[in-house]
Amino acid sequence: MKKDELIKLAKNTYAEADVLELDFAIDVATKAHQGQKRKSGEPYITHPLAVAANLITWGMDTDSVIAGILHDTVEDTDLTLAEIETNFGADVALLVDGVTKVSQARSGMRILDSYLPQTKDNLSKLLIAVGQDIRVIIIKLADRLHNMQTLQYKSPAKQKKIAQETLEVFAPLADRLNMGRVRVQLEELSFKYLNPHEYLKTKQLLDSRVRKSNRKLNAVRRAVGNKLNDEKISHTIDGRIKSVYSLYKKLDRVGNIDDIYDLIALRIVVEDVEDCYLVLGVLHDMYQPMFDRIKDYIAKPKANGYQSLHTTVTTPQGQIVEFQIRTHAMHEYAERGLAASFYFNEQKLTDAYREKQLAELPGDLRWIHDLQTAAAHARAGKTYSAEDLKLGLFEDRIFVFSPKGDIYDLPFGSYPLDYAYRVHSDLAARASGFMVNSTMRSFDYVLQHGDHIEVLTNKSAKPKQDWLSLVKTPHAKDKLKSQLRRQNGGILRQFAAAIPRRKK
Ligand code: MN
Repeated sequence: MKKDELIKLAKNTYAEADVLELDFAIDVATKAHQGQKRKSGEPYITHPLAVAANLITWGMDTDSVIAGILHDTVEDTDLTLAEIETNFGADVALLVDGVTKVSQARSGMRILDSYLPQTKDNLSKLLIAVGQDIRVIIIKLADRLHNMQTLQYKSPAKQKKIAQETLEVFAPLADRLNMGRVRVQLEELSFKYLNPHEYLKTKQLLDSRVRKSNRKLNAVRRAVGNKLNDEKISHTIDGRIKSVYSLYKKLDRVGNIDDIYDLIALRIVVEDVEDCYLVLGVLHDMYQPMFDRIKDYIAKPKANGYQSLHTTVTTPQGQIVEFQIRTHAMHEYAERGLAASFYFNEQKLTDAYREKQLAELPGDLRWIHDLQTAAAHARAGKTYSAEDLKLGLFEDRIFVFSPKGDIYDLPFGSYPLDYAYRVHSDLAARASGFMVNSTMRSFDYVLQHGDHIEVLTNKSAKPKQDWLSLVKTPHAKDKLKSQLRRQNGGILRQFAAAIPRRKK
């Protein structure tokens, strides 16, 4: 990606003044990265420019695009956050700071990676907690996508590691934000690097099936199109081909490709919700539906907010076809997800639509609702307020750091002993005090988000009964109780040994 290509892309989307600011940001970043090269041998600046291009394509606001251009400067060049704030404002600085913090925190987590099985989950939480402005996560996704697109220049070991992390963390994150297109891109690239043999095999299988069914499918498509025109329902129809990775996963579950009915789905996009149900009726008039495969994701959206009607029918010729029916707004949202909410003149997703769509989210996905609301507020206001987008997504959890920089997440209200028991119960057992952010703290200190903790130990220290009121997590309580039992048991045994045994 070159500067003039990016400027051209930006001109199609943003106002002139914004493009000028982008232009300036590119010059600043180019100067800062001067002399640095990517693994491909290209000048480093090609990477931030590609990241920015992704963000423009996804419909992000200009602050995010500028932050994308500058995203690696604070970590890798002499440019400071203060200079960014002076030149581009507080919001851009906040975003760049968030992106930098995520990658710094990541290096702290590396040690943790090797022995904590729940790390994947932790990483997602971390990304969200550190990047409290959701745009930080979207910039990280743009960054990761370009890194995946240029992964061929890395060593095979690095390729596998990065691809694995992309598949386990970044693709699901994109899914949670309902950024369907990005999720598929990340999955396909990861799969290709993780399992090139299976990727190729599955792709060939998919391609040959698609070729075979395409001609028959075109006949169905024409018939449906004519019928909908007769009914005066304005619509577009296109085919959506299943992704290689999702076919691979499904084959793993189902076993036989003949039992998979949605290799190609016909997607019908209409004006409004009423038309969606009308189309469903028309299809069921024309063809025999498979009743257990009718899904109403409009009345009951998927957890990430996805909406559509799905139905699978059998044609008189015995062909099985899946249809997906949705409105333009639903289609837009399914493809671009949350990023689309930031588009500066995005009008299609009304707040009422959003509210209705999100009203039925299960409790643990409430954060999506909060996030959407914040995005909507930001969109409605003339300016973005940083406060609007700072979300307490994980209000009930705090993140603390070990002296080595490892990250632990604990429930809100945890004590230093909870941390110590999480690290190791032997360490906790010998605790005599705690240094928190270089200050001595007592056992009843309540940990705060971002605290750095060191456990001070003493060989003769022992777990005490009154510690039970100084731990909050069930894990620490269990460990402490069993230590106390062992200790007391020990005393009882000694006591018992001191009593002379009586013989009968
Ligand atoms: Mn980067």
